[in-house]
Amino acid sequence: MKRRAIRDEALFFERNPERLRRQGFQLPPLDAPAVDPATILPQNALRSELPDYPDLTEMEIVQHFHRLSQLNYAVDEGLYPLGSCTMKYNPRINEQTARLVGLAAAHPLQPVEQVQGCLRLIWELEQALIAITGMAGVTLQPAAGAHGELAGILMIRKALEARGDARDVVLVPDSAHGTNPATAAFAGYETIELASGDDGTVDLEELDRLMTDRVAGIMLTVPNTLGVFEHRIVEISKLVHDRGGLIYMDGANLNAFAGRALPGLMGADAMHINLHKTFSTPHGGGGPGAGPVVVSEALVPHLPVPRVVKAGERFTLVEDDAASIGAMRGFYGNFLILVRALTYIRSLGSDGLRQMSDVAVLYANLIRRRLANAYHLPYDSPTLHEVVFDDTRQTANDVHNTDIAKRLLDYGFHPPTMSFPLIVHGALMIEPTESVSPDEIDIFCDAMLAIAKEAGENPEFVRTAPHDTPVSRVDEVRAARKLKVRWTAD
Ligand SMILES: *Cc1c(COP(=O)(O)O)cnc(C)c1O
Repeated sequence: MKRRAIRDEALFFERNPERLRRQGFQLPPLDAPAVDPATILPQNALRSELPDYPDLTEMEIVQHFHRLSQLNYAVDEGLYPLGSCTMKYNPRINEQTARLVGLAAAHPLQPVEQVQGCLRLIWELEQALIAITGMAGVTLQPAAGAHGELAGILMIRKALEARGDARDVVLVPDSAHGTNPATAAFAGYETIELASGDDGTVDLEELDRLMTDRVAGIMLTVPNTLGVFEHRIVEISKLVHDRGGLIYMDGANLNAFAGRALPGLMGADAMHINLHKTFSTPHGGGGPGAGPVVVSEALVPHLPVPRVVKAGERFTLVEDDAASIGAMRGFYGNFLILVRALTYIRSLGSDGLRQMSDVAVLYANLIRRRLANAYHLPYDSPTLHEVVFDDTRQTANDVHNTDIAKRLLDYGFHPPTMSFPLIVHGALMIEPTESVSPDEIDIFCDAMLAIAKEAGENPEFVRTAPHDTPVSRVDEVRAARKLKVRWTAD
């Protein structure tokens, strides 16, 4: 069941210098007159002696750096079950289109006549996102989900101000992603936390009590961070709208229902979409992201500028508009991420997108079914695209979620998201995504079951994991606060 052993190795500089005297290259004898560097370079740029660099063969260098590169875990290696993050495989065709010279080498300052194709691509992606969500308008500018949240909340603020009804509170459920309250606070709102009901969804009575005329809106994740669908979403939207508030929907979990349900029909006024989650473009260390925001009719006038406008077969830009919140980012946003997303949407088509969500949900339920006898499920509600367990059963043996996550490294997997959502103590939040094979899901579940067994039979072994990784258990606080990212000779 174990995967490839990962071998750590010393840097070349740390090895015995006597073993680093190899010939790394072969050049033919010089057939041009030799030039004395002192005759062409300034005196202070000349070295008097050469530093003691190691000398190696090409293959040693390639293999060394290749092995170092493999100390990282990556989606190309296997299941990357980080809940909420949707770490799905990025099909190579996305990379090929993003590297087409006409797209990759286009300059954002080129006159619009020269970039009609790029503008058309932006416009087509906008139409696709509007169709997928059933909303009225969209901006592709924001650079990531959290940035999209800010754009959305600023549009909500602008709409309320335009109505002469500026408000000062935003409601955020206790299961929300941390970026939600942070966004509301950053936009100048007071946040009030909304406690979840027993099934993990919004408590309507609590909402009724808190939804006063001070409340600008609610930030709601659908499905929420427990992977549970807000099944009363239409009632929630109605209640908030009836009292003059607007609905911000956190769409980071669109992977659970794209092609199956429309946020436009759920009553959303603004929703960000993480192209780097649902639409497969790489994220995290893999590159920049994009967080388009789709909006309802009420917010269309307040969309950021510049906006791409289609007039006949030509595309132009609208630069200023008094009702707009202004620019959220330079130029068109992260353009090549948009190229990747459109490629992905086009290569799947609408049936493919529906299948994507179906399989994501199926896999999460497969994991739920296989692990439910070994790990505690804090909420019994139906699971969509991610499943949240906790460590209640293992803490009886003093084994905690961190220990389980560390032991998983020995089995060759990236750990799931830990200790989030905050309403679940000792959470292990697993999101498989649709992009792995069923065999991979099985191997992952086998590993999780083996760890549950180990936690009962030999808890100390799990508590001291990982055992087979190049670096064993680290001091988490020191590892985060005292980073050592540069090699020094001491
Ligand atoms: C990832 C995520 C965000 C933030 O998106 P970024 O692109 O990381 O800024 C917000 N809400 C939820 C539920 C998320 O999963």
